[in-house]
Amino acid sequence: DLELKIGLFGAGAVGKSSIAIRFVEDKFIEEYDPTIEEEFRKEIDFNNKKILLRILDTAGCQEYWPYIENLARGYELFIYVYSITDRNSYKEIFHYYNSIKKYKSENHPKVLIGNKSDLTMKRAISIEEGKELANKLNCKFIETSAKNGENINQLFYEIISFKIPNQNEN
Ligand code: GDP
Ligand code: MG
Repeated sequence: DLELKIGLFGAGAVGKSSIAIRFVEDKFIEEYDPTIEEEFRKEIDFNNKKILLRILDTAGCQEYWPYIENLARGYELFIYVYSITDRNSYKEIFHYYNSIKKYKSENHPKVLIGNKSDLTMKRAISIEEGKELANKLNCKFIETSAKNGENINQLFYEIISFKIPNQNEN
């Protein structure tokens, strides 16, 4: 079977763990230990192929940055996450991107995520700003909500498509 290693990178509390848990277990946890770093596994059928997804949920604390660079070496697909309610998390994306590009090429397969799209009243980053940042990173931009599940499956299909192009797509 094919195996794909996907890493979730971004500041603390943006919803990295929640995105992984929503995708793998289809549930939402209000309180999840922010220090836990673990690998989630999910087997999926994609274009009639069985694929084992190994999703690394990083702790996303600045003290771990050197460690994150190390981790990035073993990963091939990258999901960068900020929260649409938190401008700092938007700015921090570059720290993760710059660290990772030291070990991968600038063109490493990646998607930029603005999470917590359900929190419309607390929005601090516009969709336009999200697209702007994605242009700088040269990748696609998706807004997601781990809480209500919006675009979570789409996010993973987008990132997987880098390795297994969808033959049905024109
Ligand atoms: P991490 O540190 O990036 O792993 O963030 P967590 O997944 O632990 O989430 C941090 C907090 O934000 C938790 O209280 C989550 O319940 C909450 N959260 C995560 N995703 C969403 C979301 O899409 N919408 C809302 N409203 N809250 C979210
Ligand atoms: Mg977490």
